[in-house]
Order: sequence, then C-alpha cells, then structure tokens
Amino acid sequence: MEFLLPEALQILSKEVAGYDVPIVDLIAVQTKDPYKVLVATILSARTKDETTAKAAARLFKEAPDLAGLAALGEERIAKLIFPVGFYKNKAGFLTRLPDVLASEFGNQIPDEVESLIRLPGVGRKTANLVVAVAFKKPAICVDTHVHRIMNIWGYVETRTPLETEMALREKLPPQYWLTINSTLVAFGQGTCKPVAPHCDRCVIARYCPRIGVKPRKKPKEEKTSENGMRRFLSWNVNGLRAVEKKGFVERIIEWDADLVALQEIKAHPEQLSETVRNIPGYTAYWFSAQKKGYAGVATYSKEQPLSVLYGIDHHDHDYEGRVLTLEFGDFYFVNAYFPNSQHGLVRMDYKLRFNRDLLTFAQTLAAKKSVVICGDFNVAHKEIDLTNPRQNEKNPGYAPEERAWMDQFLEAGFVDTFRMFNQEPGQYTWWSYRFNARERNIGWRIDYFWVDEKSKRRVTEAAILHDIMGSDHCPVVLGFI
Ligand code: SF4
Repeated sequence: MEFLLPEALQILSKEVAGYDVPIVDLIAVQTKDPYKVLVATILSARTKDETTAKAAARLFKEAPDLAGLAALGEERIAKLIFPVGFYKNKAGFLTRLPDVLASEFGNQIPDEVESLIRLPGVGRKTANLVVAVAFKKPAICVDTHVHRIMNIWGYVETRTPLETEMALREKLPPQYWLTINSTLVAFGQGTCKPVAPHCDRCVIARYCPRIGVKPRKKPKEEKTSENGMRRFLSWNVNGLRAVEKKGFVERIIEWDADLVALQEIKAHPEQLSETVRNIPGYTAYWFSAQKKGYAGVATYSKEQPLSVLYGIDHHDHDYEGRVLTLEFGDFYFVNAYFPNSQHGLVRMDYKLRFNRDLLTFAQTLAAKKSVVICGDFNVAHKEIDLTNPRQNEKNPGYAPEERAWMDQFLEAGFVDTFRMFNQEPGQYTWWSYRFNARERNIGWRIDYFWVDEKSKRRVTEAAILHDIMGSDHCPVVLGFI
C-alpha cells in the first residue's frame, strides 16, 4: 500500500499547530534574523529545545549580532551556552564564526547550503535548516525525525539522513520542502517519538504502515513499596568513579530504593562505565558541573518523572551542577549539593547567595505540590549535629551565617525529617579522613532529607546508614507515602 503523503501532511499540519514550535522556527519568527537562526541552529544539535532556548537567550543578550559575538571569548561563550550538548565544541565553532564570515562572506550569513557548510560547526542539516527557516528558500532539512518518520511511512527506504535528503529532493513535492522539517520535528517530539511512538493516539494511524515500529508497552503501574511507601536514599559519594570500585552498583540494587540521589559525582556521564549509567530497573538523570572532576549531582529513578529540572534557572549557580529536580504526580524530588564556604570562609558570600536562591526555588515548588529536598547541605545545624561545636564555631560548615540560614530555612516551613524521629547526639553523616575520625565517631551531620511543612505527615521514617563505607559521607534515607 502506498503511503498517502498529501493526506497525512494535511492532517499533520493542523495537528502540530497545537504543539510546541521547534525553537529554531520560533527564533526565526520572533527575530527574522539569519545570524540568530544560524547560531540557535548550531546550539540546538543534540540538545533539548528548552535548553537551547535558555542558552540562546543568554548568549544573544551579550552577543545580539556578529560584532557582539566576536567580542566574546571562547570561555565566556562556553559559560553562556552551558549545558547545551557538546558546549565546548560549539563554543569553539562560535568563536571562529565571525572571522570566517568576515574573510569569506563579507560579514553576511550566506543563503546557500554549499556556502553555509563551509562555516565552522555547520553540516548539511544545519545548513538546510538555515536556508529554509531564515531565508525561506527551497531546502529540505533532514534531521533524525524526518529520516526516521519518512522510513516508518515507507515513503523512502534509506539508511542515513543524507540518503533521505537526496531521495526527498527527487520525490517530495516542492510545496512541502520548507515545512517538512518543522512539521515532523514537532510530530516526532510529541507523538511519533523515537522510542515507543504513541500510535494509540496518532491522527494519521490509518495511513501508516508502521515499518519497523515496535508496539508500545503498557505503562507500568506506579510502583511503590508496601503500604504505598516509597524509599528514597541520598548519598554524597565523593566521586562516582571511585565509589563504583567499592561495590556501588551492587548496593543500589540491594537497597532497591525508589529514588537515589547522589551528590559530588565529580564526573560527566560519558566518563562513567555502562554499568553505572544503566543500573537495571532505573533511569539515571545527570547534572554535571561544567568543570570536569568537580561537584555534580545525579538521580536514579524507578518511576518515570513528569519532568526534570536541571538547576534552579540561575546562571550564577547552574554551571556548577548543584541541583537536579524530578517532578512526579504529587511531589517534587530535589537533589541538592550545597557549596562549601571553604577554609577562611572565602566562599561564604557565594554560598549564602546560593542558599537564598535555593530557598526561593523550593518555596516556588512548594506552592504547587509536596517538596522533598535532600543532599549534602554542607552545614551542621545545631550543637547536637557535630562532635565539637565550640572549636568549630567560626569554621566552614558551622559558621554563624550558615547556621542562621538553616534557621531561616526552618522558619520558611521546611522540616528536618531526621529530627522528627531521633533526638540523640552522635548521629553523623560525614567524618574527616584524618585522625581516625570515623572510627572515633568525630563527625558532622550535614546530609539531610527535608520536606515542606504540610508534607510532614507523609514521612514514615528517616535514618542514617552509618555503616555504609565507600565515601567520607554515609547515605541518609527517607520513607515517604
Ligand atoms: S501510527 Fe505510530 S508510527 Fe505511524 S506515524 Fe503515527 S505514531 Fe508514528
């Protein structure tokens, strides 16, 4: 049966009118500026539209045109566009772009594919997209969605996007060239997804031969432990690559927690083994620091979240990979790694700014639904929370300003769940590697699970897993219904 392309595209053009507009098209409509379309297209490769939109907005604020871009250094560009995929490579391309445009194209963005592909970071897909979107000239931009869906429909039989582009140039009626990319990107992101397309709600299902498509699995029942209780675990691992060698994966499987929040992973996902990235039964979400080997958080979840928030939408903090939030039906799960105020309290100002912005973020979430915040707060709150309060009164992690912020956090309506169950001294989560501190239990309680006041009744247990070795911190756990 031949695929009825005109009928299908007519239906789809109406259908996707209600979907989110692909970011590059949006920028073209809003700015009508080929420079911005070109730069946004370079940023968008292997990056979610939402991330591209934020990165492009930051970059265009400082570099509204080519001259502005030329005035920024590579390092600054990298900082502004982080965390788009391959941001370092893209920062290099964008740094070289003004020079190449000046020397070869008289400071104009070219409007032909063969010229555009001579620019740094511009391949055929990007070039076609710029020609079609910025200049409204006939071009077929074939990205993975167009290539994949055209093959599912049997309209082409090709192995690569380039083959698809060539086949479509022969076959696709010209009236569809300009719009095919935005239509199929929106459709591919919303319905005909790469993994498990929603054939069950697809408006063109009756036309589609579904070549190579596996039937969608029924969604799993929301999994919670006995009595509807979920178990959460939080652990500052002080280097995920190091802790992997100490039985990390086996422990995660054995604990069987619903959510596992890790701080100070000190790695980017591509630096980790396949075993750590894909623990059976979990999906891992990563938010690494821009700087390699530093900070970074990750959360493993059994249940698929409704959404994932990377950072707190504050550029002063988000390049340090400190906060990762998973949204579920009736709660937010915030995994946070607070800054250390450092020796001599040299980073105190920054830490207090981070704390203030995190509190605002948490309050915004708590206005919508329950909030669970866990992680390494890098501060012991009260005398009972460390072995030597007097000696540490002016030291990082127990300085008056840090404790005052904890009071403020409490007053803002957040509850330290561990102290709901345990008022004993000597309950610590971090010990120095020096002076046999752990054996002697000379420690600090700086890792926590907090919840917003109205969700206190949902907490069933909170504990410290003192015996778990592998890091200078031990894990903390929470039961939540
Ligand atoms: S029926 Fe399924 S495979 Fe075919 S276009 Fe619709 S979502 Fe994609």
